[in-house]
Amino acid sequence: MSCLPDPRLPTGPLATAWRRTRDGLPLISPLRKRQLRIVVVGSGLAGSAAAASLAEQGYQVQLVTFHDSPRRAHSVAAQGGINAAKNYANDGDSVERLFADTLKGGDFRAREAGCYRLAEISGAIIDQCVAQGVPFAREYGGTLANRNFGGSQVSRTFYARGQTGQQLLYGAYQALMRQVAAGRVELLTRREMLELVTLDGVARGVVCRNLLSGELETYTANAVVLASGGYTNVYYLSTNALKSNASAIWRAHLEGALFANPCFTQIHPTCIPSGDAYQSKLTLMSESLRNDGRVWLPLKAGDRRPPDQIPEAERDYFLERQYPSYGNMVPRDVASRRARELCDGGHGVGQGGRSVYLDFHDAIASQGSEIIETRYGNLFEMYQRITGVDPMAAPMRIYPAPHYTMGGLWVDYHLMSSIPGLFVLGEANFSEHGANRLGASALMQGLADGYFIAPATVTAWLAEQGATAIGPDDPAVREACLEAGQRAQGRIEALLAVAGTRPVDSFHRALGQLMLEHCGIIRSAAGLQAGLAAVAELEAQFQRDLRVPGGAHEPNGELEKALRLSDFFGLAQLMLRDALAREESCGAHFREEHQSSGGEAVRDDQHFAHIAAWEHRPGAAPIRHQEPLSFSLLQPSTRNYQ
Ligand SMILES: Cc1cc2nc3c(=O)[nH]c(=O)nc-3n(C[C@H](O)[C@H](O)[C@H](O)COP(=O)(O)OP(=O)(O)OC[C@H]3O[C@@H](n4cnc5c(N)ncnc54)[C@H](O)[C@@H]3O)c2cc1C
Repeated sequence: MSCLPDPRLPTGPLATAWRRTRDGLPLISPLRKRQLRIVVVGSGLAGSAAAASLAEQGYQVQLVTFHDSPRRAHSVAAQGGINAAKNYANDGDSVERLFADTLKGGDFRAREAGCYRLAEISGAIIDQCVAQGVPFAREYGGTLANRNFGGSQVSRTFYARGQTGQQLLYGAYQALMRQVAAGRVELLTRREMLELVTLDGVARGVVCRNLLSGELETYTANAVVLASGGYTNVYYLSTNALKSNASAIWRAHLEGALFANPCFTQIHPTCIPSGDAYQSKLTLMSESLRNDGRVWLPLKAGDRRPPDQIPEAERDYFLERQYPSYGNMVPRDVASRRARELCDGGHGVGQGGRSVYLDFHDAIASQGSEIIETRYGNLFEMYQRITGVDPMAAPMRIYPAPHYTMGGLWVDYHLMSSIPGLFVLGEANFSEHGANRLGASALMQGLADGYFIAPATVTAWLAEQGATAIGPDDPAVREACLEAGQRAQGRIEALLAVAGTRPVDSFHRALGQLMLEHCGIIRSAAGLQAGLAAVAELEAQFQRDLRVPGGAHEPNGELEKALRLSDFFGLAQLMLRDALAREESCGAHFREEHQSSGGEAVRDDQHFAHIAAWEHRPGAAPIRHQEPLSFSLLQPSTRNYQ
């Protein structure tokens, strides 16, 4: 491929674009659907929702996940909530406002049509989840409660205490298990997808490693849906579930799927700071806490007094000072950068001066401890268990940490990648978030993709293939499976054959440190170039000195990690390249060469109002394609949260 496929964006008014598109999509009769097979990879919100919805339509679905139960998917960890433009709070919200906040929050690096569709579908998601029995928080009168999240001035976030992801996932899981019981979904747990099977450039199935037996298994299908989540664990220390990785999308990329905006990584401002060098994961403190918690640091650099001994006049509520209009609810990229700057300047508190206070004292004094407890009880409990400090009595200490990836496989308006028949949903695609994802919008996007968009567009693609299209059991497909299986086998054998001295985790930690240093909250040309050289050198060491104990034909956690890390090396280099090529600052991508005198991001709309979509070329540098972005309803403006 040497050009970008048609993104199939709708023409005409945005307000009716999705309805017009959907109404124009071809359908398939229920009888025919029963003869068609779809493989879904991933059992998080996007994958479970898609598998349940496609099976409900009548397709034969196989769902592959490396967990022992779909309920363990990383989506279970989502705490704060899910957005929807319902205007229940009667504070002026609308589809147009959610659309505008999403597009502006993403710093105008997302497609307008996608953002509009997301806002439009958001209401139906809440209806569907309520109907499934998801226990959203309610007001005294029984209506659903809302709270506020960063980057918006209305309360549109629906939540279930601090366990929104868990409750939504259980809703999707119920819907999925109904289809399992009906025999329409085959649940294939403890399988990890290692390769995508393609024939003549069309997706035809996946090769998986059975994590219990070590055997390689192939699953062929008329369409493949990847919903394998994000890749923040490239930083090693992140808020993501330990096993979250990039292998499924990276392998598809190597088979020809374009990778879009890989460098757009969200660093979340409110995580519990890391304790020691051998920690393997960071814990998020939901953004919803900033509704009532106030962020501050000592005015004087190097002030080591405990927080209760620092008088009001000697505190700097820096977000409220710098952004009077949004205050503590500025978007995540802004809050993270400001916290880091002050910590770099010596104002930080705690171990190594790398944290800021999130203080509930004023909220408790004005609203009472009972209200604050009810609102954030389980988050406080989690914090106390990890740090030993009760946030009701003393401020939390928080610091930014890698959290979410806005980049992912390039998809068109139908969520199809540049490989025909390969659809990508949820955090695995590059989606609607542009250069920055606003809080509570990932759950919304994953469920919009899974429940509402893919069921329509996958059907349309299958309908367009016609009855004579090559089937999954065709001999040529079998041949392609064999070839993909040999690729997987070759990689496993090569990793085991290194027989070096250094364990996978030590390489992963080193990669994470390099990525944080060179491709983290702040980037520069010199840093990115140094990062590229250092990651390539580390990868060479990995290939020379890796030690994977055990064999291929048995459960082997170290081998699983080594396979994932070998993919992270390739992805890390693509992230660095992408960050280097984007000579502007936008959203979470902050290049220090491109900032205003006040330290705000300076976009270059003339040269970079596009999606960067990377094409892999074996043995040669990848090609950077550009999909231009155009705007009709809302013109790009400088993000201003003051
Ligand atoms: C701590 C935390 C809190 C969050 N809070 C919020 C919030 O309040 N609101 C919000 O909107 N968003 C939140 N997010 C983000 C949100 O949770 C995720 O973006 C979203 O859940 C991703 O869903 P997903 O279905 O795309 O992927 P995931 O839930 O990550 O699921 C991926 C699935 O793919 C499977 N998989 C991956 N690779 C393979 C492979 N190679 N083979 C087989 N299976 C594979 C995994 O087994 C898993 O089942 C939070 C994230 C974190 C980390």
